[in-house]
Parts: sequence; structure tokens; C-alpha cells
Amino acid sequence: MLTTLALTLVTAPLGAAPLGDTEQPARIGIGATPFQIISDTEIIIDGVTYDSWEAVADSGYFHTEHTRCITGFDDPGVDIRGTGADCDFNRTRVEPQYQPDQGVRRIPVVVHVIQSTSGTGFIPESRVRSQIDVLNEDFLAIAGTNGGAGDDAQIEFFLATEDPQGNPTNGITYTTNNSWFNDSGSYWNALAWDTNRYLNIYTNSASGALGYVPSLPQGGIVGSNSDRVVVLYSSFGRNAPLVPFHLGRTTTHEVGHYLGLYHTFNGGCQSTASCATNGDRICDTNPESSPTFGCPGGRTSCGLPAPFDNYMDYADDICMERFTPDQINRMRCTLENWRPNLAITGPQACNAADLAEPLAVLDLADVQAFIDGFTAQQPIADIAAPAGVFDLADVQAFIDDFNSGCP
Ligand SMILES: [Zn+2]
Repeated sequence: MLTTLALTLVTAPLGAAPLGDTEQPARIGIGATPFQIISDTEIIIDGVTYDSWEAVADSGYFHTEHTRCITGFDDPGVDIRGTGADCDFNRTRVEPQYQPDQGVRRIPVVVHVIQSTSGTGFIPESRVRSQIDVLNEDFLAIAGTNGGAGDDAQIEFFLATEDPQGNPTNGITYTTNNSWFNDSGSYWNALAWDTNRYLNIYTNSASGALGYVPSLPQGGIVGSNSDRVVVLYSSFGRNAPLVPFHLGRTTTHEVGHYLGLYHTFNGGCQSTASCATNGDRICDTNPESSPTFGCPGGRTSCGLPAPFDNYMDYADDICMERFTPDQINRMRCTLENWRPNLAITGPQACNAADLAEPLAVLDLADVQAFIDGFTAQQPIADIAAPAGVFDLADVQAFIDDFNSGCP
């Protein structure tokens, strides 16, 4: 029996680490474009100071190929893992075992929020959670959301509930470091959680781009600390400050790379006859001579309709709305062959008390998750009616489900 839930358990407060580093943000450069974030109202690019992220966006700075996304595609020349030929660097072979009807793949996420000593770069937990929601809306094509027009990949994301040592966690870390905030220094060696088992997302200045991953997983990065997704903090989450890159689609795009996708315009105009082995190695996305910027509503490139609404193009957030079936097949192939220890393919939660990993097992992690959620009045603990009210009915419902056990 579980009848004496202690609802006074207090977890360590989140937020800024103690201030101790007084160095000024370092000046960093992307190519010939120096980029320096002093604060959200003082952003210096190539000698010009902008007083808001809106002003940066209006300047067209992110409408160039070298600032939108700086993901690298260096092919080491060999498939060092020796497997995954269905979705290696050179080709995509669409196979039934990678189709979404083979079951949901659930990916644990840790978000490392890095801020400067002035507090620039801080992202509240609610906005971090909103980004996970957006990922799920887009990858699951949830009806009634911005992602609803796409195809359902049956790939789901959740903030980790257990850290690498097995301790309960909300899946978010906060770090204050000016060098790391400027995307300098090997911060991943200090912060990464086992990259075989967690999607590690970092928010900081992203080296002056909206985001990037260091390389596709087919290159052997998986398992190293540097395996990561990096997103500009002002473009992270729903209703982020950086309009028109404010709806969480930078992260959707970068996670597409993290799961093995190229840009739709990779290689420019290519033969559609050999579409599986050139360009983006995807046959149901037409080739493009160059990225689509803005929100054109339609575009012809290479003599064909451009896939301007694809998450792997460069359109504004509101105009991105789909992964194609072949892209989904390649991502699921990548998960199976190149990130084999990442996704959870096991059972779903067995009842309303089954709140934490491992699912289908009711244990202290579930109790902790309920207590944390109840204390913070989060939806996870709002089990009983009325919705939005956290009272003894929720506690009783949790206890009843917990005691009834998983089938
Ligand atoms: Zn990209």
C-alpha cells in the first residue's frame, strides 16, 4: 500500500549557477562575419549593433546559407560502423522495416541551457517543454497543430526522467559560462549525457547560426561527447523571441539532421532518376538549386516545384510543415542502424500513475515524478477532475492507479 505520500519534497532550484566568471563574452566569427551577443538588446554583427532580435531578423542576416544552419556533411569516405547501408552517407533504400507502422520510437532528450553571466540565454522550463511539444507536433503530425499537415513519423520525444546515474531529473540542465554561451570551448565534455542513450540539445549563441549538428550520425560521432544538436537560444521553443524563426522549427530541422537527413537543396539540381544516391538521397523531395528563404507559398527550381515547405529547407518557421515518407523512412533507418541505443521501443505507460521511465513498471520514479509535478502544479500530476486543480482527488487517483499495478 502507498498511503503516505510526502508532498513536501523539495527539489533543488533551477536557474543560474553562482556568478563567478566575470570575463566578457568572447568575440567569435563565422567566416568573415563577426558575431557577438552582449545581451538581447545589444547584438553586434559585423560592426553593426542591433537593439533586438527583431532587428537582427529584419536585417536579413539569417537569410544566407552560412548563417541559417551550419551543419557539416563531411563524409569520412567509409561507413565505419559497417552497417546501415540502407541509409548511409551515399544512399537511401526505402524498406518496409523502417516504416512508421513498425511502431513508435521514443527518444529521451536532455536540454542543456547555457547562459552568460549577465543572464542572456536563460530559457525558462516552460519554454523548454514547449520545444519538446513542438517536436512531437511535427514528428507525429498531430492534428490541429502547426505540424498537422505533415506525415506521422511515429518518432516521439520526451524530456529524460532519469539521468545517466539513474537519478530522477526533469531533463534540463542550466549552466552559466560566457565562453560556452558563445559556443566556444568543448563544453560537451563537461555537460554531455551518454550520447548513445540521450539526444543532447544545447542552447547558446550557436556560433552565429540558428543551429547545427557537427555531422550526420553516419559519420561515427555517435557515442562521443561532441554528438549534439546546438540551437540559438532566441530561436528555441514556441513563441521564442526571434521572429520569424520563433515556432520551434529550427530544432525540428536540426533534429532532422541528427536523424540522418540532408538539406533538400543538397547538391543543387540533380537527376531525379538517381534520386536515392544524389542530392539529399531522398526521392520524394524534388531537387532545388538553392535554399528557399522566407515564405514564398510556392517556388519552381530545377524545373520542378521546390519542396519549400519541408523541414529540411530554409523557409520561415510558419511555412515549414512536413517530412516526406522517404525522409521518415531514412530517419527510422538511421535510428535503427546508426543510433541503435537511443530510441525506446518498449511499452507505453500502463496507467495514469505510470509517469516515469521505465514505462510499464510502477516504481519510486513514478512516485517522485508525481510529487514533483504536484508540487509544481504541472499537467503531469493533474490526474483527476477538475482539470487545472491540484487537490486530494489527484493524489487519490494516483494512489489507486499505483496500487492497481501494471497488467
Ligand atoms: Zn540544416
